[in-house]
Amino acid sequence: MSILVLLEQRGELKNSAFEAATAGAKLAKASGMELNAVYIGQALGDQAPDLGGFGIKKVFAYEHADLGHYSNDTYVPIVRDLAKELDAKVIIGSASSLGKEFSASVAARLDCDLVQDAVEVWWDDGLKVRKPVYAGKVLSEVSVVGAPVIVSLRPNVVAVEREGDAQPEVVTREMPQVSLRAVLKEAAMAAAGTIELTEAKIIVSGGRGIGGPENWPVLQELCDALGAALGASRVAVDSGWIEHAHQVGQTGKVVGPDLYIACGISGAIQHQAGMRTSRIVVAVNKDPEAPIFKICDYGIVGDLFEVVPLLTEEIRKARS
Ligand SMILES: Cc1cc2nc3c(=O)[nH]c(=O)nc-3n(C[C@H](O)[C@H](O)[C@H](O)COP(=O)(O)OP(=O)(O)OC[C@H]3O[C@@H](n4cnc5c(N)ncnc54)[C@H](O)[C@@H]3O)c2cc1C
Repeated sequence: MSILVLLEQRGELKNSAFEAATAGAKLAKASGMELNAVYIGQALGDQAPDLGGFGIKKVFAYEHADLGHYSNDTYVPIVRDLAKELDAKVIIGSASSLGKEFSASVAARLDCDLVQDAVEVWWDDGLKVRKPVYAGKVLSEVSVVGAPVIVSLRPNVVAVEREGDAQPEVVTREMPQVSLRAVLKEAAMAAAGTIELTEAKIIVSGGRGIGGPENWPVLQELCDALGAALGASRVAVDSGWIEHAHQVGQTGKVVGPDLYIACGISGAIQHQAGMRTSRIVVAVNKDPEAPIFKICDYGIVGDLFEVVPLLTEEIRKARS
């Protein structure tokens, strides 16, 4: 009996891979099951030491030039067969868009239970999962009775924790003979230089307070000065000022950067649901009563059109 962690990569291991490993480690400790992981990609190479400290016994590495990009046809049979071989009772991965598709496909092939978009997992005489339902209005607690089960974890809800530096054994496996009916040739980013929100270390977000799409350049300049990704509140998205891919919150992305700068955002509970785990929160808002000031580390009461350009200028000076 074991727990199997799906290590998501995009060239390099994604942070969500370490989050899944952290969650898997806690389950393994509480349940007494062995913890293993599977890597599918071009080469694990010098990233293997990053998998130390989670208590993973073995990392099964399927490496091949054709495995760089996710391919359902190729990836799913690998995990199905490995899960059977290891008698995996819990398979845990990421609820990224790719991860959700992958988890659902593996669950179908194993004919097993699937819990998508979990925000918490723990072991209490069996697997328990907390997950939002009804567009996040309710958090449901699921007691999993069957096995195996596949759980996908929402990115940025688990703080990565390592205990010690014990390294897993890396077991390199031959790529099984599978037909590559569909091959991803290229992944095009939304715009050149765009930083993926869920992976960004710094995020500058704008809300209704930016007044209209013509004002994004004010925030974009701060993003450029800091090397930050651009986020948005739902009002900004629903107003058609920016695409949904930028939305932070309960019905957008959950982010966990080192620094989150909220500009012209009131800090509604649904927005907080997506950025509360940020390490440092800075708020710029002209209303001193805005709820965002209750959860921020640094608050600036003022007009963002005065404050943000000043911040950008000072950061440029400090960096030059
Ligand atoms: C089921 C559900 C799901 C939701 N999901 C999300 C979600 O994923 N993400 C999300 O963000 N929201 C979500 N919402 C909406 C949420 O409730 C709020 O309506 C939304 O977050 C408010 O966006 P905002 O802060 O941009 O706008 P507002 O609440 O209108 O706040 C604008 C703020 O800008 C300030 N301001 C105005 N002009 C300036 C200026 N020149 N300089 C400085 N400050 C200024 C104002 O003082 C105000 O505080 C959801 C709601 C529901 C019901």
